[in-house]
Amino acid sequence: MAWHPHLWHPTTQVALHPEPLRVRCAKGCLLTLDDSTPLEGSPSSSRELIDAISSWWVTLHGHGEPTIAAAIADQATQLEQVIFANFSHAPAEQLASRLAAHTGLDRLFFSDNGSTAVEVALKIAWQWWRNQGSERRQLIAFEGAYHGDTFGAMALGDRSVFTDPYDSLLFDVCRIPWPHTHWGDATVEGREQVALAALDQALTTPTAALIVEPLIQGASGMRLVRPEFLRAVAARLRDCGALLIADEVMTGFGRTGALFASQLAGIQPDLIALSKGLTGGFLPMGGTMASERLYQGFISTEPTHTFFHGHSFTANPLGCAAALASLDLLEANPEAFSGFEARHRKHLEHLQERKAVQRLRCLGTMAAFDLAVGDTDYLNPVGRQLQRHCLERGVYLRPLGNVVYLLPPLCISDAQLACCYGAIDAAIDAVTN
Ligand code: PMP
Repeated sequence: MAWHPHLWHPTTQVALHPEPLRVRCAKGCLLTLDDSTPLEGSPSSSRELIDAISSWWVTLHGHGEPTIAAAIADQATQLEQVIFANFSHAPAEQLASRLAAHTGLDRLFFSDNGSTAVEVALKIAWQWWRNQGSERRQLIAFEGAYHGDTFGAMALGDRSVFTDPYDSLLFDVCRIPWPHTHWGDATVEGREQVALAALDQALTTPTAALIVEPLIQGASGMRLVRPEFLRAVAARLRDCGALLIADEVMTGFGRTGALFASQLAGIQPDLIALSKGLTGGFLPMGGTMASERLYQGFISTEPTHTFFHGHSFTANPLGCAAALASLDLLEANPEAFSGFEARHRKHLEHLQERKAVQRLRCLGTMAAFDLAVGDTDYLNPVGRQLQRHCLERGVYLRPLGNVVYLLPPLCISDAQLACCYGAIDAAIDAVTN
């Protein structure tokens, strides 16, 4: 198979990366490859791969989940799309009410993906202060943060190989340390104190908002912080009146073991950005939850106080129908996510004995470790080598440099999970020898 002459794949270097595998269909945790896909080294009978990272963290319950598929099909026969500026519809209204009840934030603003959900949160926070005539201009974000690939989201995210070409176009953000932790970490409290001291110092400048990936920074390497740290951050923001934006694009909808990571951490944000699992991973949709207080700050006979932001597909009814069906599943069976961590733990305890495995960590459906090989950056080739070995064993992973992680759909069976860990175990032998 050759590279397609008319496609351009995301975050892919054609000169260095292997050609993409062609997928014919998917069900549950399994991706079934097209017959034309060559599978080096794998048993010729197996054209199925376990999707151990939920296809970039979106596939929540499983591929092809039948009730979500049916809800979308049904909605498509009723109302597939309508402009949301002069109109409203039941799926959007129901979804807004249900998410308000779950998040404690009364207003839902729709967009198209995680990056735009973050952009919207940032623009609401910024304009809310401006509408009041406030001079607060500082934005605070964390070292290692990732909030998306659009310009505002890139600016909020830490500078990296992803953002380098655009550096001069990105606005300044005050950046403070992220005291990430792992099993057996004896130094975390000291590092938290350093980060909080940096925050105290930052907050001496009038601050509009701070943005955080609550509990887990995803793209920078599945880096966990303790709930205690986030509570201390939230308390400081509350004391000085700055807004708290939680980017729950990855952590939302059960990924951390609670419906939302902010709940697990015990913090109440003013804004929450949502996407990925919002539609169960079926359709691209973003949502930004905002408090009623923020919403009221835009209500005025002064037209310039309007939030002038909107996307063509705002509140797409098919996406709303998928999201409602996905919420039904989460509400009906919370044990599927709340009990997931225990399933990872027993495998991780075994991995812990391996010398090449460092900084084990686990939260909800996410488990990760660092492979003690070479540099700790995204371009470390060990990740791609490990990926290749796992593919040969029927498991799809996508390490972040030397960080190996699993974030599987909730439907993964015990046998499939064991198969993933078995593949990782064997792949570690292969890449460290
Ligand atoms: N925020 C976080 C925390 C993310 O993990 C991501 C995507 N990985 C985004 C924002 C951007 O989402 P999208 O790729 O849907 O634009």
